[in-house]
Amino acid sequence: MTGRTPAPFTVDDYRARMGRAALAAADAGLAGLLVAPGPDLVWLTGYAPPAATERLTALVLAPGRDPVLVVPALEAPDAALSTGAPALTLRDWTDGKDPYALTAELLTPDGRFGVSDNAWAMHLLGLQKALPGTSYASLTDALPMLRAVKDAAELDLMAAAGAAADATFEDIRKVRFAGRRESEVAADLARLLREHGHEQVDFTIVASGPNGANPHHEIGDRVIGHGDMVVLDFGGLKDGYGSDTSRTVHVGEPTEEERRVHDIVREAQQAGFAAVRPGAACQDVDRAARAVIEDAGHGPHFIHRTGHGIGVTTHEPPYMIEGEERELVPGMCFSVEPGIYLPGRFGVRIEDIVTVTEDGGRRLNDTTREMVIVD
Ligand code: ZN
Ligand code: ZN
Ligand code: ZN
Repeated sequence: MTGRTPAPFTVDDYRARMGRAALAAADAGLAGLLVAPGPDLVWLTGYAPPAATERLTALVLAPGRDPVLVVPALEAPDAALSTGAPALTLRDWTDGKDPYALTAELLTPDGRFGVSDNAWAMHLLGLQKALPGTSYASLTDALPMLRAVKDAAELDLMAAAGAAADATFEDIRKVRFAGRRESEVAADLARLLREHGHEQVDFTIVASGPNGANPHHEIGDRVIGHGDMVVLDFGGLKDGYGSDTSRTVHVGEPTEEERRVHDIVREAQQAGFAAVRPGAACQDVDRAARAVIEDAGHGPHFIHRTGHGIGVTTHEPPYMIEGEERELVPGMCFSVEPGIYLPGRFGVRIEDIVTVTEDGGRRLNDTTREMVIVD
């Protein structure tokens, strides 16, 4: 699909985003930004090239100058159809011409530029060769908050993606778990996410029994058994915006201990959510969730950060982690997802996407956080 432009955005939205990005670059001491195809380009212009190719496509943003999109001639007609196109100048290049020389004309020869993290090395090397005086910084390092604060239309899309993930959970809790492989339940999750409107499925974690104790376990051929805890963690993109939710279910009646551990994680998730408000630091969310787990004696079993940002990708800054002192701002969206992992036995994780409001937080996932018993 070309464009992948979510409907509610207008050329003015893209013009404003490009203008803000150029100013933020200047504030960060950069001469400008070089944006490669991917989430940054989609967010700034609404343009997603038909496929990743070896031909250079780059948006050049510099303060006080009109945005320029360098694009292969054969893809220029597509680029011209994107919603943001009227707000930028297209500079196309034909095969056999040197796209780096063309792009170099747009750059300050000794400037430092922010570059999309997913830019191809061959393109950056080509530019460095054309302009040896330039230097480059990771765009995510230089401007981590560029896409962090969502506007009202973006929040609507985030909420719709969250609701679709919730509908997926309501469906998956009714399927059979016992006797089926993790990979089969994961396939159900992927199908349901698509049925509920996701155009892209990023992950469908089904981690049963001892596999649940490994937060990196995705799926395998383990046959889910009666008595298993099963961590479900799934998400993707719906209309260009991300979902990501986790619930931990149990096949049949849980033991006392399984219930207790699940309760601790639920309480920790609630504490993390309760810490969300404008002006709080990202690390406060981590601390609030972690304190509950540490007080319960499971500190060593909570082995990852409490959350990550989400938007046009499913994992991005800001991160809810000790040492991240950046302040929460209304419109930010991120996960709150504490967990307890008992090696060789089972794991529990509960995850909602939360957005910062004027006076607190709002969950974009709202299925029950009580332990769900499945068959
Ligand atoms: Zn059990
Ligand atoms: Zn997740
Ligand atoms: Zn997550």
